[in-house]
Amino acid sequence: FDNPLLQGAVSVDAVLGTAMGPRSPNTVFTYLHRLVGASYGYQGVSQVTGGMGMIGQALAGSAQNEGVDIRTTAKVANINLDGSCVEGVTLESGERITAPLVISNVDPVTTFTSLLGLQNIETGMARRVSQIRNNSGTAKLHIALNDLPQFTGLTDEQLGHRLIIAPDMNYIERAFNPIKYRECCSAPVLDISISSVNDSTLTSPGKHVLSALVQYAPYSPVGGWHQHKQAFTNVVIDLISQYAPGLRTQIVASELCTPADLEQDYGMTGGQWHHGELTMDQVLMMRPFPGCSQYASAVDGLFLCGAGTHPGGNIMGLAGSNAAAEVIKRGNPT
Ligand SMILES: Cc1cc2nc3c(=O)[nH]c(=O)nc-3n(C[C@H](O)[C@H](O)[C@H](O)COP(=O)(O)OP(=O)(O)OC[C@H]3O[C@@H](n4cnc5c(N)ncnc54)[C@H](O)[C@@H]3O)c2cc1C
Repeated sequence: FDNPLLQGAVSVDAVLGTAMGPRSPNTVFTYLHRLVGASYGYQGVSQVTGGMGMIGQALAGSAQNEGVDIRTTAKVANINLDGSCVEGVTLESGERITAPLVISNVDPVTTFTSLLGLQNIETGMARRVSQIRNNSGTAKLHIALNDLPQFTGLTDEQLGHRLIIAPDMNYIERAFNPIKYRECCSAPVLDISISSVNDSTLTSPGKHVLSALVQYAPYSPVGGWHQHKQAFTNVVIDLISQYAPGLRTQIVASELCTPADLEQDYGMTGGQWHHGELTMDQVLMMRPFPGCSQYASAVDGLFLCGAGTHPGGNIMGLAGSNAAAEVIKRGNPT
């Protein structure tokens, strides 16, 4: 275990999606959390054919077969109350939908603060909501390529595996340090996937898509992302190019999604992909906060079912499955 490359690779799995360095307290837990899939027998590259969106489509198809009516592009503006009980939601369009149960997949801070309103919950609970930490240090770079990039020393088949740039723990620690001061690092840690190598449905023949989790990116860099985004994108592409020298000539388009973009586009507070950091005071029976850890909230009829609840995020479905079981156990209100 003394090999710096191995230490770097293990450390990456401990810090992905966090704003923590490899020596930060708590990263043993985040590492074990990453390994949950292995306990179900999954090893190596796990990739959804057709892209992540196919999971949503499969779930939607299954629900629709049971008669569920799904509304998209229908953003919820408010969760409505009748006294202390949930009465339904109001959409941004102004449409009101009445329902005895509201099951929120939106992160707990947004659910209680923006949608329900802290003024509508008990003071102690409001304080606990406002103390949930949602820091993230992860950005994502997407690149469309007109050919398969050539990484020095790797075969085309090997390009279908995770490609990690994290030569040792100190490199990761140095990449982490600048976000403490709201700065971008000059040598980020990268977890690169070229998913089109294993899945030809993602692109037209001969074309490829490369994505990279970029660790670390600040949520709000000094001066704002408009000042730093292009330069930081170049830092990441230049770094990949050190390993894949012809990459720049193959790029058709690229986009960098910063933590602030993830918050803006998907409503994840802080761009935190677990909807709340996986720290010891925010996990297990304290997730999302004490008194709200069994999917039912203190507000009658309001349940949580997303990554902000136990056991946290990543595409594993356990939080939703547990929440469904809890809703069924409690029965439908009349
Ligand atoms: C860049 C990135 C890469 C990742 N890579 C991986 C990976 O490779 N493997 C993995 O397992 N996990 C990965 N994750 C983590 C994983 O995507 C999340 O943990 C997971 O999606 C959380 O699922 P969720 O259903 O609880 O919440 P979300 O997926 O965040 O879904 C919440 C939904 O609510 C919607 N919403 C928000 N506000 C409102 C509103 N007011 N009204 C209506 N709808 C609203 C959002 O648009 C969103 O669709 C990644 C996350 C990110 C950000």
